[in-house]
Amino acid sequence: MPIFEYKCSECGNRFEKLVRGKERVSCPACSSRRLTKLFSTFGVKSGDKFTTSSGSSCDTCSATSCAGCKD
Ligand SMILES: [Zn+2]
Repeated sequence: MPIFEYKCSECGNRFEKLVRGKERVSCPACSSRRLTKLFSTFGVKSGDKFTTSSGSSCDTCSATSCAGCKD
């Protein structure tokens, strides 16, 4: 099942969302639908966290966790 990463144009929040069918996605922080889709990934689930193969740092960082961040 595809997981999409979005960035909110309103508040800058980044989040990943499992999208089923034509589900409408809105920002979990501010409920805005002005979202930029960053990339999609087919999730590799380890534990409770999703990891991505992105090479750039902080792509997977959310507002709540930076556990995988090297910086
Ligand atoms: Zn937002």
